[in-house]
Amino acid sequence: MTKRKMPLAMWICVGLIVGVAAGLVLMAVPNGKDIANGYIKPWGTIFLNLLKFIVVPIVLFSIASGVISMQDVGKVGSIGVKTIVYYMCTTAFAVLLALLLGSIAKGMHLFTALETSGLEYTPPEGQSLMDTIVNIFPSNAVAPLVNASMLQVIVIALLLGFGILLAEEKGLVAAQVVDSLNEVFMRIMDLIIKLSPIGVACLICPVVVVNGAEVLGHLAMVLLVAYVGYILHAAIVYSATVGGLAGISPLQFFSGMAPAMMMAFSSASSVGALPLNLECVERLGARREVASFVLPLGATINMDGTAIYQGICAVFIATAYGVNLGVGEMATIVLTATLASIGTAGVPGAGMVMLAMVLESVGLPVEGIALVAGVDRIFDMGRTTVNITGDAACALIVSKMEDRKTARTRIR
Ligand code: ASP
Repeated sequence: MTKRKMPLAMWICVGLIVGVAAGLVLMAVPNGKDIANGYIKPWGTIFLNLLKFIVVPIVLFSIASGVISMQDVGKVGSIGVKTIVYYMCTTAFAVLLALLLGSIAKGMHLFTALETSGLEYTPPEGQSLMDTIVNIFPSNAVAPLVNASMLQVIVIALLLGFGILLAEEKGLVAAQVVDSLNEVFMRIMDLIIKLSPIGVACLICPVVVVNGAEVLGHLAMVLLVAYVGYILHAAIVYSATVGGLAGISPLQFFSGMAPAMMMAFSSASSVGALPLNLECVERLGARREVASFVLPLGATINMDGTAIYQGICAVFIATAYGVNLGVGEMATIVLTATLASIGTAGVPGAGMVMLAMVLESVGLPVEGIALVAGVDRIFDMGRTTVNITGDAACALIVSKMEDRKTARTRIR
């Protein structure tokens, strides 16, 4: 009799449950925090390090080989435009939804004025939008790979792919090398992904131990509103667009995405969840050349969950300080939160740093961030999950559009 193997998604789910359960047990133990941080967290960190290690070669070679397999610079441009339009529209919708939910929560007195006099928060040196744009273009071919500056790595990968295409016959060897390395790194990625269940358990356990008690405090309401926002956005926007534009039912989409979503939830890093996300969307029917371009780009610039978090926190902090946000200020928040989410790196905690930019744009005190900073990780787990699900939805939609285009040209 052959034994039926349990799918990886189930194992990851088991890992998540075991991690949370262990966290709850350790919360009750006197030195539970030390045990979690000293003995369990390092294994999670090892797993995260492995994922981070594989991300740069995967992004570099998979985008370059995606461009090469499209065989046409114009096609890359058309996919790029569709991707960016989807990313911008869904992110702007996310902020609008957040502001609406924040206002409802305020109306229901779930958000109220708080004691803010002793708060302190110094935002790290901010970057202007123009700096962010200038920094997309690397001045060195190696440094971005070493520092894992994802936007710059994407530019290098695109240029490498374009160069190989333009070199025609003379580029053939380079094309084969890129393709072969892409395959090799994909295999290494598969090996690392097999460790996900253990990694997920070790990442989530210390989070439960450290944040467990705080979540029960006055922040419960903001967290609740943020999670309602995350769930509504995913249920409305992704279900509708994936169903309408890619012909995939919400059930099929979310169950296919479950492994990547659980990974994002426990690691709070879009970049860390990228390898698993690539695997999930390919299983759901995305073209590899499209996914390998759309997903890394999304992990870097598309952050719907982060935008929701920023919108809700802006309303919460304004209310805490007794400030009323007018329509003009709300519009400014939509614009700045959309842009801030582009500038947010796909790593844990980055969205909170960019919240400072959103608050400053409407004259709210950045010290207000101190109100929500204590449980940022809990916000972050949810927003990262939404972030990567949005990237996956886009990859599937653009793939379907490309399929239809190919079918049409064949008929002609
Ligand atoms: N952790 C998020 C991500 O990786 C970014 C954020 O902090 O909002 O997608």
